[in-house]
Amino acid sequence: MDMPPGMDFDALQQLVNIMKGPHEEMIRVQHLGRPAYGKRLKHVVDERLQLAHSAYQMNQITGGGFAGKGVVKLSNPPIENGMMWTVETLRKIVIEDYENRSNPEFSRVPALLTRIRELLRVYYNFKVTAVRTADLKYCDFPRIFDISLPMHEVGLTLQLDPPRLKALIDATGSELERVVLDVAPDIGPYRALAMNYEKELRRSEEADDTDNLNVGHITDKADEDLAAYAAVWFYGDMMVAFLMEKEATEDQKRREKKSLQRLVFWSSNKQMRRIYGDCLTDSMRPIYWEPRLLVKFCQAGGLAALLGDCGMSTCKAIAEDAVLSLPDAAWEKQTKRSLFDATQSLLDITEWRESRKPLDVFTMSCYNIYKRYGISPFERASKNENWDEPVIFHYISHQLKKEGLPPKTQAEWRGLLRDFENLPDSLERRYRWSNLNISGQWSCIEFYGCDNKACPEKAELMRLRKRRVKGVRDAETEARLYDWGKKLKSCSSCHTKTYCTPDCQKAAWPSHKAECARERRNQNAFPT
Ligand SMILES: [Zn+2]
Ligand SMILES: [Zn+2]
Repeated sequence: MDMPPGMDFDALQQLVNIMKGPHEEMIRVQHLGRPAYGKRLKHVVDERLQLAHSAYQMNQITGGGFAGKGVVKLSNPPIENGMMWTVETLRKIVIEDYENRSNPEFSRVPALLTRIRELLRVYYNFKVTAVRTADLKYCDFPRIFDISLPMHEVGLTLQLDPPRLKALIDATGSELERVVLDVAPDIGPYRALAMNYEKELRRSEEADDTDNLNVGHITDKADEDLAAYAAVWFYGDMMVAFLMEKEATEDQKRREKKSLQRLVFWSSNKQMRRIYGDCLTDSMRPIYWEPRLLVKFCQAGGLAALLGDCGMSTCKAIAEDAVLSLPDAAWEKQTKRSLFDATQSLLDITEWRESRKPLDVFTMSCYNIYKRYGISPFERASKNENWDEPVIFHYISHQLKKEGLPPKTQAEWRGLLRDFENLPDSLERRYRWSNLNISGQWSCIEFYGCDNKACPEKAELMRLRKRRVKGVRDAETEARLYDWGKKLKSCSSCHTKTYCTPDCQKAAWPSHKAECARERRNQNAFPT
């Protein structure tokens, strides 16, 4: 592998070891930067920044995010009001001047933050459109990381030093709150466009591969704009700091409420998660460490974020631990919306079929959701129109409706989920069929439906498909297509093949016979 310039090989090796390494090492890393009695502020901040460095190294390998380079060389001294000058001034005021007791100019902080935001916009407009503007001369930073890291240091220092945060709030009044909690994140013009298109696509019953590809292009363009991402460590740190404030004044309560709303939205909404990536999760660690904060966060709709982080995330291990020791109260006060988001996040936990901890998280979640909210969250999850395949929720809803006692204990839930592993392919295909939109059904005739190669209905539907004009709907034909894929009977002896009529089954029997016996032997060898 070619090493990017300036790459520290030892650090990379360490990172690779951590990623594939033993669970204990993973856990140790997950807890780095957790404040404890006797640890000095600087030590804790440094540990957290060390994690940020790992994120940067990952970016260097993948070429994304923080690896982005500036467009103007940094001069000495840095140009006044330029990016590096602004970031350094912010850092000097909050960290050095405060610690040297040299009367820090806290009142300048909101204006400096606004300036950083402006310059990030200038830079990313250039990155996405390649149009040079006069202000580009102020974008004098070597790498995006050279902006994000010092800002993160400032954010963490304020978060871990409440008297300093209070002094800053007192000196800036409502201005700090406005800049940190009221101004909308700068996600860039292309992102808004991409989000609108995606929404339209989800509503469309006829969206096909070409439409998906077009939206993909717009989304890729939007992904080049990282203005919000570059600053998210700092803003995440600040919002967590506002949640951790101890004084219960009116002002504090208002800041807490706004911070909670923002953090929940940023971390639960799929689009926002895409924009902020692991950096937001990283800055949210203190919430996962502290059960009191976690309950508030989950009750405000953050359950989806917590479960989502049990999927692919740098905080996977702490998120899993947090779910498994989640106080009961965190499962309460959930809404239709928050439960829907939570079930969608469960779909991101892909390895629950193979490994213990993800299965525990899945079991724990289903158990708690069913106990409090019954079958409806699972039914709503199974009717999701997104591309993710909610087969598991079709299955759960189906099982819960069956005669007999629904699962009451966690052990019973675990059993139910384990049985899902043995679900015959044929059943899974039927579930998936009913989840395809109309264009999807037309284009998947070959892959779903009757297993008789010479099925006359399949031949007829393929003939009708040739005559189909996109945009012209025909309810009768569509119902015929849907029924063909949905109302199938599986081979009663092996359950791996499905047929639309007894005639089709008879016609396919000569070619299925040997396979059927083989399948049955396999199934007997591994009893369920
Ligand atoms: Zn057939
Ligand atoms: Zn069979």
